[in-house]
Amino acid sequence: MNTTMPQTTCDVAIVGGSIAGLRAAQTVAGYAPDLTITMISDEAHLPYERPPLSKVGLTNPLSLDTLTYPAVNDLKSHGVNFMLGTRAVGLDVDARTIRHSSGALQYRSLVIATGCEAVIPPALSGRPDTFPLRCYDDAVSLRSALADPVKSVAIVGAGFIGGELASMLATEGRQVSLVDLARKPLGRFGEAVFKSYEALHRKAGIELYFGEQAVGVEKQDSRRVLNLGDGTGVPADVIVVGVGVRPSTGWLERSGLRLDDGILCDTTLRAADHVFAAGDTVRWWNQRWGADMRVEHWTNAAEQGRVAGVNAANDVLGWPLEVCANIPYFWSDQHGVRIQFAGYRTGDEEITESQNAGGSLFLYRQGDIVTGVLAFERRAEFVRIRTMLRNELSWQAASSLVS
Ligand SMILES: Cc1cc2nc3c(=O)[nH]c(=O)nc-3n(C[C@H](O)[C@H](O)[C@H](O)COP(=O)(O)OP(=O)(O)OC[C@H]3O[C@@H](n4cnc5c(N)ncnc54)[C@H](O)[C@@H]3O)c2cc1C
Repeated sequence: MNTTMPQTTCDVAIVGGSIAGLRAAQTVAGYAPDLTITMISDEAHLPYERPPLSKVGLTNPLSLDTLTYPAVNDLKSHGVNFMLGTRAVGLDVDARTIRHSSGALQYRSLVIATGCEAVIPPALSGRPDTFPLRCYDDAVSLRSALADPVKSVAIVGAGFIGGELASMLATEGRQVSLVDLARKPLGRFGEAVFKSYEALHRKAGIELYFGEQAVGVEKQDSRRVLNLGDGTGVPADVIVVGVGVRPSTGWLERSGLRLDDGILCDTTLRAADHVFAAGDTVRWWNQRWGADMRVEHWTNAAEQGRVAGVNAANDVLGWPLEVCANIPYFWSDQHGVRIQFAGYRTGDEEITESQNAGGSLFLYRQGDIVTGVLAFERRAEFVRIRTMLRNELSWQAASSLVS
């Protein structure tokens, strides 16, 4: 479905119509209003917010009118050409041409924002009533499968999306199980963080099966059961798969761009001449941390979308490029608790925990330098420390902010 007639040339082409692509379009439109912009998206919908898909309760409507980013209207008025339901299938960097499902588009500068796609393990692939939760259409299918309130739900993958979904379903009185191959989901943030996370879910009555692999599904009478490696059968009329994602870069395999768990970019998000990338699909050198990273969170996608938009416009105008150096950040809402992290971890930091009636706060440090903060609630302290992480942050300065 195309909202306007397909164009064959534009100044700035954007592939991917989610937050990174939207921010790139907004930035070009505001910063260099004379440039023409075309956005190619394989979804049938205008850019919409994904985070509510795992948080809005089943009893509340999940309407596209509400989820669609308000900025879309301004972009339409500006003349941005949204090519929806159109899949990019190849890129010729030298000819500056994208091949897509209904033709070809030539650009002067390109922003790739194709994000990530859900990974489905072979044991769960093609099973009935088994869903990923990555996009609006997934959420609609999942809601329809959950229409009968007696249906049990097994969520495979206890990361943030799985945890949020479990929390939302438990709040609505559904029978929910959370399964994860890892013995300690979120254990990469430290033992104490895992324990807080586990306690939150247990308290809400969610059955936890950690350190267990989902090996198959079988029907027992009229119900379904998810079989785990140790022989346990978990009630699973509906299964949600949230084991992780991989960068959506298949269409770029013959483009000559460097791909390695993401599109490899320099500090300015430049992947090749006249090609920039933004969001979950990018692996780049983040100067703030002196590290190569790929981040799968909303704020990074929005921030990178802005920088890629500026740089795509600067590339057309012949102006210098901007560096993208940021502080990785995420939030997650589970069981009425906001969990937030800001910073960068290598895994060998010392972790200091502070607990009080307001929640828990964890500081990560290497020697005298604080490299990250994670909080269950404690929002005001978290915000202060997150802000200070823009620059090198000493242990003394950070710990003086913790009550
Ligand atoms: C259910 C859910 C809840 C989340 N909650 C949170 C949260 O609470 N906090 C947080 O920090 N983050 C959250 N996230 C993560 C956040 O939404 C992502 O980091 C963000 O959406 C990444 O944006 P993006 O634009 O890089 O890519 P994506 O959002 O993945 O979008 C990429 C777009 O490109 C399209 N595309 C892919 N390939 C092609 C192609 N070849 N041609 C055309 N189009 C293509 C895709 O269909 C998609 O529309 C959540 C994600 C999900 C799915």
